[in-house]
Amino acid sequence: MNHYDVLIIGAGIGGLTCGARLAAMGYEVAVFDHHYLPGGYVTNFQRKGYTFDVALHGVGGLGKGQSFHQILESCDVMNRIHPLPKQHPYSVLWEGEKIDIPQDVNAYRLFLHERFPAEKEGVDRLFEGIRELHAGLQFLSNPAVPGWKKGLLFLSKCRTLMKWSNLTTEQVIKQYVQSEEFMNFFTALWGYYGLPPQKLSSLYFFIPWTGYHVEGTYYIQGGAQALSNALVAVIEENRGKVYLKQEVTEILVKQKEAYGIRTKKGLEFTGDWIVSNASPAHTLGKLVNNHPQAEAYRKNLAAKEVGPSLSQLYIGLSCHPEELGITDEDILFVEEKNHQMDYENLIEGRYHMGNFSLTNYSKMDPTLNCSNRGVIAITLIDSIENWPENKEAYQQKKKEVTEILLERLETYYPGLKEKVEVIELGTPRTMERYTKKSARGGIRILADD
Ligand SMILES: Cc1cc2nc3c(=O)[nH]c(=O)nc-3n(C[C@H](O)[C@H](O)[C@H](O)COP(=O)(O)OP(=O)(O)OC[C@H]3O[C@@H](n4cnc5c(N)ncnc54)[C@H](O)[C@@H]3O)c2cc1C
Repeated sequence: MNHYDVLIIGAGIGGLTCGARLAAMGYEVAVFDHHYLPGGYVTNFQRKGYTFDVALHGVGGLGKGQSFHQILESCDVMNRIHPLPKQHPYSVLWEGEKIDIPQDVNAYRLFLHERFPAEKEGVDRLFEGIRELHAGLQFLSNPAVPGWKKGLLFLSKCRTLMKWSNLTTEQVIKQYVQSEEFMNFFTALWGYYGLPPQKLSSLYFFIPWTGYHVEGTYYIQGGAQALSNALVAVIEENRGKVYLKQEVTEILVKQKEAYGIRTKKGLEFTGDWIVSNASPAHTLGKLVNNHPQAEAYRKNLAAKEVGPSLSQLYIGLSCHPEELGITDEDILFVEEKNHQMDYENLIEGRYHMGNFSLTNYSKMDPTLNCSNRGVIAITLIDSIENWPENKEAYQQKKKEVTEILLERLETYYPGLKEKVEVIELGTPRTMERYTKKSARGGIRILADD
């Protein structure tokens, strides 16, 4: 049967969540992905018997009644996954001192009082602002409040959300606290959101912040793949299907209306609704050809600045990380406190100096790999422009950058290099190749591993 109620292009976490929610509501759903695994970035991969999580370091809001929990419950997957609460949202190495950032919002506020005594009052006002933002978000995501009521009360309930939505993270914080040192410390995790506080939309910073500090931070037992597999199971138990190794090459349009898709293997499917989880650049740049509004949208997208990407170094160790002194779940190594400067270093590919974070999967989920093996990952902001398209040059650069990062790790954890059994660097080109997240729309065939 080639007709479904809904066709979804891309089995990333966005496409799968949409599919599972609709399947749980009774719709027949088909999801298509070019990869052989479901999940997009939310997948695991294996090397030499080691299991690596591609991307997940932590998610907020998985506690009962919290935002992400509510979404996953409505997809019928909360009873299929096992969230593991993290001890701390993250730790940070700041001027040689290791600091565990408190999870609990009040404990964090008091910690900041102690560290920045001159800013006590400003810190309290900032936290009050964050509380108001979170209350507004909870109001908007509360399924018990009808849409008309949300519309009616939006301005009064979501005043802080409205006020902050056009401000950068720095602009919001500076309304309350002037100290540069505070700004840098408080926003040390900016790398997770891609831009330094001077450029980063405040909502991009504060929404996940409330997830971590108000709603709690979690990892998922079995890694990211466990979540994606659970969503696939819901879709398939409800008459739906997830088609893997099926790249969609065209969205079929008749009289301005999308009615189906065509895959690279020549299959055609029709649906009442078509949803694309592929990037807007890819969807409109490649998949939609004959829609009158597509060209204007493409032009609009092309005028936008391309954002940064990430590199991630996946390391399998022949011992438990603890033997090397790696005891934190997530730790951020801050060697450059000025985030604007750090951003420039990273975007320019100065791999010997940019800040980076280490995620210790063996600590977050001891069942992911056996206890005498360790799995860690190093993450840093990067730009696709730093990575040559030529295959040989690319491979050579990968070796060089891997070596630089390993040397830097060795200075923090002497003896680590000797314990490396598996090492794989995922670059912005790797990310693009696997998820077709090309910023300029085309599916480029690129040199990679
Ligand atoms: C290294 C790294 C670490 C991260 N860590 C975290 C974290 O700790 N916590 C967190 O919350 N977020 C994290 N993120 C972000 C998070 O992983 C992503 O925001 C999220 O997975 C994006 O999901 P998506 O469904 O929007 O897109 P994607 O995961 O990109 O999914 C899109 C899917 O569409 C498919 N596709 C595209 N075009 C086609 C086509 N033509 N035909 C068929 N299929 C197609 C792709 O194969 C892909 O599977 C991290 C990201 C990275 C890269």
